[in-house]
Amino acid sequence: MVASEAPLYTDLRPPVVRFAPSPTGYLHIGGARTALFNYLFARHHGGTFLLRIEDTDRARSTQAAIDAILDSLAWLRLEPDRPVVFQSARAARHVEVAEALLAAGRAYRCYATPEELEAMREKARAEGRPPHYDRRWRDRTDWPEGKPFAVRLKAPLHGHITVDDRVQGPVTVAASELDDFILLRSDGTPTYMLSVVVDDHDMGVTHVIRGDDHLSNTHRQLALIRALGWPEPVYAHVPMIHGPDGAKLSKRHGAVGVETWRDEKGILPEALENYLLRLGWGHGDAELLTREEAIRLFDLEGIGRSPARFDLAKLESVNAHYMRQADDARLVALVLPRIAARLGREPDARERELLLRSMPELKTRAKDLNGLAESSLYLFARRPISMDAAAAALLDDEARSLLGRVRESLAGLAAWDRAGLEAAVKAVATKAGVGLGKVAAPIRAALTGTTVSPSVFGILEVLGRDESLARIDDACATRKG
Ligand code: GLU
Repeated sequence: MVASEAPLYTDLRPPVVRFAPSPTGYLHIGGARTALFNYLFARHHGGTFLLRIEDTDRARSTQAAIDAILDSLAWLRLEPDRPVVFQSARAARHVEVAEALLAAGRAYRCYATPEELEAMREKARAEGRPPHYDRRWRDRTDWPEGKPFAVRLKAPLHGHITVDDRVQGPVTVAASELDDFILLRSDGTPTYMLSVVVDDHDMGVTHVIRGDDHLSNTHRQLALIRALGWPEPVYAHVPMIHGPDGAKLSKRHGAVGVETWRDEKGILPEALENYLLRLGWGHGDAELLTREEAIRLFDLEGIGRSPARFDLAKLESVNAHYMRQADDARLVALVLPRIAARLGREPDARERELLLRSMPELKTRAKDLNGLAESSLYLFARRPISMDAAAAALLDDEARSLLGRVRESLAGLAAWDRAGLEAAVKAVATKAGVGLGKVAAPIRAALTGTTVSPSVFGILEVLGRDESLARIDDACATRKG
């Protein structure tokens, strides 16, 4: 043990995991899935879920990105069990560990100049070797005075390093493939490789669950951990998410940020969570799992070894399921801003009440909040309501004559309830010798200005007597064409 122990916590329940995003952009769905897997693993085993923002790359890290990541994690209800750790705030500790390694002879000063390093790379390229540093300062002590130096790890020269990965299985790399990588740059700043290892240790991390794009770093991190004599975490590297075309999911595929799914598409957080859970993890044929079920069932064994493909239709069908399950008042609150944006005004109290009463019907057909907003617009329409082309075409003379009969029959109803409305409309159809659909279609057009909507009886009921009859009058009065 060469560096002083500096645990950040003394009271964490194991296993301890962390999500460690770099704040260089929004939280993408691959990151959200990593966070979810860590969270579920901690909860399943009664452990601790931590969050570390890896903001050491000051040029690329922004406060806006930090806010976006925290906001998306809160929306997904993936909040850490302890305050967020900012990696940049721990630089002094990273330097301290590198200096301890230097003092113990497990790291060394390297005075190679940029020109020398470039020449080394050129030579390696010409000889067909990986462009590794040639270790020329590894055993030297004739340090030039006053010159800047980098600190490099004395990586093992012989043997192998094996990562016994819980998803990928054992992955072995020969020591000859690792170089004496840099711990401190010549300007004194710690490298990412050093910071990650020190922070994971100090935070007490026992299990590292992350994307398999980090697998190639892991052997170096293990070499460093072993030089420090620290306990080695268990690793689980999760395959990347691929796009529908089979290529690694990237900006090119559009919509890869969690915020986009929330704001632009109107997906519910529990739906995105369930979808991401199943993207790369499985347990028998379980598809729709609540958070509690996911916590009960989640294990590393269920993570697949091959990349999962993002499937929009699947996400939409999962979302439709959670829309149907969602509480009506919650959906009203979520959809109102979208409706206001479409209307260009705030719905009033009466309209909000209408919306709430219509929700049990509306939510059975919506794929997302945008669709829900769209399908509820008829409630807010001001008379005479505008008709789409299909609805206008449908209201021919025959349709309007049926509508006139419907109007008469409805106007005579003593009570405006669903059973009475249904009976009245059906009686008109029977009397006219036509199917119910023939009568329902013009009612729908008159009330909603469209040809698709939930049950017309539900709409009549929710709109109420005065508004329904007035809209029917408007439609009867309209001359076709
Ligand atoms: N900061 C890294 C990233 O965002 C993750 C590092 C890790 O999980 O070890 O990709």
